[in-house]
Amino acid sequence: MICQMNKPASSLSNEEILDILSLSRKATAIYTSENIVIEFANDQMISFWGKDRNVIGLELEVAVPELKGQPFIALLQQVWRTGNTYTAENQSAELRVNGKLQRFHFNFEYKAIKNEHGEVYSILHTATDVTQLNLAKQALDTGLLREQELNRKLLSANASLGKSQDKFASLVKNAPVAITFLQGPELLVELVNKKMLEIWGRREEQVINLSILDETNPLIDPEQVRLINRVYETQDPYYGFSVKINILSPFSVITRYFDLIYEPVLDVENEVIGVMIVATDVTEHSLSFQREQSLAEELTASNNELAAINEEMHASNEELNRREDQLQFIIDAAEIGIWDLDLRNLQLSGNDRFKSWLGLSEQDAISLSELYKVIHKDDYAHVSSAIKEALREHSSGKFNVEFQLNIPGELLPRYIAAKGKASFNIQQQPLKFSGTMMDITERKQDELRKNDFIGMVSHELKTPLTSLNGYSQILQSRAKKNQDEFSVNALKKIGTQVSKMTALINGFLNISRLESGKIHLEKKKFNLDELIAENIKESELLTETHQILFTPCPPVEVEADKDKISSVITNFISNAVKYSPAGKLIEIQCEVSPSEVRVGVKDHGMGIKKEDSERLFERFYRVRNGQTQLISGFGIGLYLSAEIVKSHSGKIWVESIPGEGSTFFFTLPLSST
Ligand code: ADP
Repeated sequence: MICQMNKPASSLSNEEILDILSLSRKATAIYTSENIVIEFANDQMISFWGKDRNVIGLELEVAVPELKGQPFIALLQQVWRTGNTYTAENQSAELRVNGKLQRFHFNFEYKAIKNEHGEVYSILHTATDVTQLNLAKQALDTGLLREQELNRKLLSANASLGKSQDKFASLVKNAPVAITFLQGPELLVELVNKKMLEIWGRREEQVINLSILDETNPLIDPEQVRLINRVYETQDPYYGFSVKINILSPFSVITRYFDLIYEPVLDVENEVIGVMIVATDVTEHSLSFQREQSLAEELTASNNELAAINEEMHASNEELNRREDQLQFIIDAAEIGIWDLDLRNLQLSGNDRFKSWLGLSEQDAISLSELYKVIHKDDYAHVSSAIKEALREHSSGKFNVEFQLNIPGELLPRYIAAKGKASFNIQQQPLKFSGTMMDITERKQDELRKNDFIGMVSHELKTPLTSLNGYSQILQSRAKKNQDEFSVNALKKIGTQVSKMTALINGFLNISRLESGKIHLEKKKFNLDELIAENIKESELLTETHQILFTPCPPVEVEADKDKISSVITNFISNAVKYSPAGKLIEIQCEVSPSEVRVGVKDHGMGIKKEDSERLFERFYRVRNGQTQLISGFGIGLYLSAEIVKSHSGKIWVESIPGEGSTFFFTLPLSST
């Protein structure tokens, strides 16, 4: 309590002093005793504490309990004990003001008030709230710091800007794409890199500050200049892909392809200051793209073609299947057997009918040698020689043969007509040999019956003809004796007609014999040249209309059926007479080689067309035209001749020019002995 203090001498009373202090704008408090009892506190100080006047007389620790744990009370006690004044600036303190613990900052002084003995009797506490100041300072400090920081950053940014600029420049310079910056409305080249210079074919100093609008020194294709100018004016960028550009190099114009970027460059006020050009040379890519494109187009085209072909193929496949079915139907209906001889292993395979004839199961094939075993022994030889002939190099490859087949499980053989064709490669090696077979048993039996009938009739006719011939000869000799000229001539003509008829009947007889397999060769050795001369003589007796010229060959002996070979020669001569006009020459020649003798009968008649000459040797075949219609015949003479020659292992053929004449040939082999 102040009243208990040792008061200094003063003209002011304690109350007066306290009143004065209470008016002070500075927060002031007076404490007494070591326990720091609040003797006095003005409103300012009380408001600092956030309390009311009730705190007066209380220990500071009790009055402002939040000071516990803060240094102030200990400091005050220290001042009390030591008498040393304690001053602090901007000291923070936590005080509960308006019910809220808040941090304040104070400048304050704890001043020890001493008596004349130097004893402390009170402490004068003055304080100023510097919280706002502090905040302002802090803000200032932070601002400063920030500014410093900014400055620092700015510095480093500046430095890195410099670095980046360098980096940028070098990046631009060495960029793998062409870059240039065109500045201002004039579009002056301000920056240009190596790639762009390469494209332009210029040095940097030649283009820097050059306007691309300058037509006297053009850098860029005019069409592109127009586009760049538009980018500058409209500020709309332009992007072009694989643009074809004519490069105006000082020496030539080269066409290349570029991906292009024309980008307007704006300043901070969004004002256009130039145009940045980035050009990537894509010529190779573009060309290969074009190539790919055209390849793709080609591919599409060929794909389409393929699709069309496929469709066609599909259609023709269907057609093929349809035809195959049709063919199969026809083959079945016609009862045709189909065969194919594999020339690598001589295995014969064929359709079901073919297999059934040979008693083969579905998968089986039959070897050629096994086939020969089931062919009738009489036919074996001519089937085998027909096959050999078809496969012989330079042959026509045709195969046409009839034979009897001993079908397993059947008593009588069946007659089969086989036709086929061999095809050859360019070396004349046979590649394929296939054909058809038909069962002709019924037809054959009919023919046999017919042949038997012809044979019988011919035989019956022959007997009266023989006696007719005999009687006419007797009458002729009598008429000669009586010098009855007319009867002699008439009987001569009768004799000629009788021998013609006899020849005809003999022909029929021979056919019937031939076809019933009853033709037998009676071979003996004789001179062919002599036989030819004899035949010519006989023919001359019968014909007065033609002259016959014989070019004889050296004497040549053959072993053959003399009568039958004679009938061949006679047939050739009588045909030459029949089919050539009266008065024309008939030339007969005979040539001998070491292996064979060849006889030819040449006429200067109507000749024979190629298509007919191939068929003349078929039975009953006759050429039908205006001329031949008037000439009588049955179409059996050449057939018989061919059969006779072939049975002697000889060959028979005709060479002819229609309108000029024909030569009929046959050969007979000469035995080597
Ligand atoms: P034919 O003479 O009795 O009819 P062939 O078998 O001898 O019978 O002859 C068959 C066919 O060949 C004849 O009908 C005829 O058309 C033709 N022919 C034969 N020889 C000659 C020839 N020298 N010139 C022209 N055609 C011929």
